[in-house]
Amino acid sequence: LTQRIAGEGAAAWDIHYRALARQAAGEDVIILSVGDPDFTTPTPIVDSAVDSLRAGATHYADVQGKVRLRELIARQHRQTGGAPETQADNIAVMAGAQCGLYAVAQCVLDPGDEVIVPEPMYVTYEAALQAAGATLVRVPLRAANDFQPDPAEFAAAVTPRTRALLLNSPHNPTGQVLSRDHWAALAALCREHDLWLLSDEVYAELIHDGEHLSPDSLPGMRERTAIVSSLSKSHAMTGWRLGWVIGPAPLIQHLTHLALCMLYGSPDFIQDAACEALAHPPAALDEMRQAYRTRRDTVLEVLADDDTVEALRPAAGMFMMVDIRRTGLSAQAFADRLLDTQGVSVLAGDAFGPSASGFVRLSLTVDAERLREACRRLSRCAAECRATAEA
Ligand code: PMP
Ligand code: GLN
Repeated sequence: LTQRIAGEGAAAWDIHYRALARQAAGEDVIILSVGDPDFTTPTPIVDSAVDSLRAGATHYADVQGKVRLRELIARQHRQTGGAPETQADNIAVMAGAQCGLYAVAQCVLDPGDEVIVPEPMYVTYEAALQAAGATLVRVPLRAANDFQPDPAEFAAAVTPRTRALLLNSPHNPTGQVLSRDHWAALAALCREHDLWLLSDEVYAELIHDGEHLSPDSLPGMRERTAIVSSLSKSHAMTGWRLGWVIGPAPLIQHLTHLALCMLYGSPDFIQDAACEALAHPPAALDEMRQAYRTRRDTVLEVLADDDTVEALRPAAGMFMMVDIRRTGLSAQAFADRLLDTQGVSVLAGDAFGPSASGFVRLSLTVDAERLREACRRLSRCAAECRATAEA
């Protein structure tokens, strides 16, 4: 088997599956270890898929994506600060942002190319880039700097082999949103060295503080930017596998050629449901966003006076990082202990890269009361670990 598909990342969720097994066995387990919304997909979207199925949308669909869906994605992108020139021919529909990212990597990278990625980073990035024969070059984000990037360190990482920067704002796992100044500096670097900017924007609709910026709206960036996004998080539609790439038309044509031999188009009835989702944004979207915000504030409140752990305030998204270094344990040991003794599952920050070791990631995927209980348990576990370490 080829080593290009090395499967890194999958191990990150071992603890999640252990927690699910314990829950299935009847234990009181609070699962905060996966980024899958606990909300159900809003009813009008589900109805639209059912209607479409009944109407016979069971055949191959347009491989690039249905024109109406691509027009709606382009319109949303223009309305949310993306390049005002974006049209349907700048869109390729994919089976989720993950599939979009993988496809973009195949279309823009050659073996031996380097891609600069801030770390911690989402766990699938390395394998997706590696499958294209490229190498991931990490630029660490520092906990002491609230995981904000230092553009000078990105500049220092550029070599003659660098082909792209891969950025993710809002960021998984830290919840940070890149500022306009950071975007401007990183975009300038791409122009200076003739690099692609790959931008993963799956959490763009879940911002609480600050604002989202799509880099294709910056001067000279449209022709070198590929954006991946989806309905997974914004619309609680992770299982529908509906996402897209936004980019210059030649890239989109290339992606469509790849989609023809890889995917053969996203299912017709799912594309119809996605049209409904984008044409008539349900009120539930605001309610979900508000719920994530309330949950974030709940964690901040419960852990505010804790003298062992410290929660980092995320500006966006559905995750929070909690600094557990004072427990005296590694993040993995702490996560294991938290599951074993308190029945709460979280991910060790190390899954996202060494810069996040010493942190655990909480998913805000249970209601505020359950989350309050989870934080109390986390606090208790941390205090016990610390007492043991100091004894
Ligand atoms: N990028 C990031 C940063 C993610 O967290 C995820 C998954 N939650 C994805 C991409 C993949 O999203 P999708 O479900 O649209 O494939
Ligand atoms: N992206 C989500 C997370 O970060 C979950 C993806 C998955 O199911 N593996 O947890």
